[in-house]
Amino acid sequence: MHDFALQDRQVLGELASWIADRRDAPVPPRPAGAAALPEVTGSGIGIRATWAALRDVLLPSSFPTDHPRYLAFVGGSPTPAAVIADAALSAAAVYGGSELEAGDVVAAERVAIRWLCDTIGYPEQSHGVFVAGGSLANLSALVTARHQRVTERGGMPGIIVASASTHSSVRAAAGIMGCQVLSVGTPDRPLHADELTAVLDGLDPDDVVAVVANAGATNTGAIDALREIAECCEVRGIWLHVDAAYGGAALLAPGRRAEFDGIQHADSVTIDPHKWLFTPFDCAAVLYLDPAIARAAHQQRAVYLEAVEDDGADNPADYAAHLTRRARGVPVWASLVANGTDAYVDAVEQCLAVAEYAAKQIETLPHLEIVTEPHLSVVLFRRRGWTAEHYSAWSAEIQANGLALVTPTTFDGESVLRLCFVNPLTSTDDVDLVLKTLECHAPNG
Ligand SMILES: *Cc1c(COP(=O)(O)O)cnc(C)c1O
Repeated sequence: MHDFALQDRQVLGELASWIADRRDAPVPPRPAGAAALPEVTGSGIGIRATWAALRDVLLPSSFPTDHPRYLAFVGGSPTPAAVIADAALSAAAVYGGSELEAGDVVAAERVAIRWLCDTIGYPEQSHGVFVAGGSLANLSALVTARHQRVTERGGMPGIIVASASTHSSVRAAAGIMGCQVLSVGTPDRPLHADELTAVLDGLDPDDVVAVVANAGATNTGAIDALREIAECCEVRGIWLHVDAAYGGAALLAPGRRAEFDGIQHADSVTIDPHKWLFTPFDCAAVLYLDPAIARAAHQQRAVYLEAVEDDGADNPADYAAHLTRRARGVPVWASLVANGTDAYVDAVEQCLAVAEYAAKQIETLPHLEIVTEPHLSVVLFRRRGWTAEHYSAWSAEIQANGLALVTPTTFDGESVLRLCFVNPLTSTDDVDLVLKTLECHAPNG
């Protein structure tokens, strides 16, 4: 019988060296499909050849999100401590759903959750759980909100009122829940309470599942007027969910905290460590002001779960739409322990500083122009004289030659360029390199 033996321990040493080397010298990707993947066969090719295929074929064809010039989308740049913890977590085959099985692993995740709760200014009794992504965090929070509304007042509310810049995942969550999204405010502009009040005044509060506000809209980094919005929800008894999946990390920068004021009054908050908090994919947190409500909404009950669900247990499985789960908070904890929280403050501030540098450079260069005042670490700008086709061709060109990943987006109906800085290893030189390629000609589109 095949026993899945390790066969070749040396492979593990090579993996360790590879982890270290790739960080010291990030390599631009090779096109996908350039080399053939080994076939799946009846007898298998063994661990050595498989490792070689991973190292030389699969992985080099992806544009790594921790490359210093991965500036499209919101990437992720895990710390070495987080990577080691993530690898060990897989190797240890940890079931992260219950205290019974995971022991101190759950305790470590709880420390990481506590740090996030403290960061947003949540009180002692707040709690949450790490889930696979911001999308699942938003869904879990909205299901919790609906549970609370139904428990309190009966009926079945069907409307999610969301700031116009709300991430697509909220619409997806609404679809799963059979709810309708009512958009308020203007896309890519911070939402204010007067706009929200005007909409809520026309609704029966019993029909509203929750209000969703943004703390760092994905397209622009804009932060809604959270304090006003929280007050507006509070007086109506409506659940407020704040989506800080990308932007929440900026709470660590003392100079930026004021912009988030009011987030501590949200009933639930999403924040993604796999975006701007240096954790491997996938890791998002959903945090609750009153975790008992989340537990009531999500805890699964069955005879085969009775052993893990005794009344005193605090099981991560209970706070979101999942059961079996990766203990994905462990890399967050390990990296916090290894690097200390000051390093996180520095790293976030570094990203903000490079974003500011980029904005300043763009203002000084005659062929470039800032589109809207930058928020957090997102910079939107245009290349004078270029069209959407030029942007696409340019983006494809610099991706193909391995220089950078930068993609266009749309702002106020106009195709523009967007840079998003979430990697502390991105330098001002990287910014200059990218901006330089916009100097010359229009690309051959
Ligand atoms: C990225 C993002 C999400 C979705 O998170 P995933 O981890 O990609 O599922 C939700 N909201 C905001 C504001 C985001 O930036």
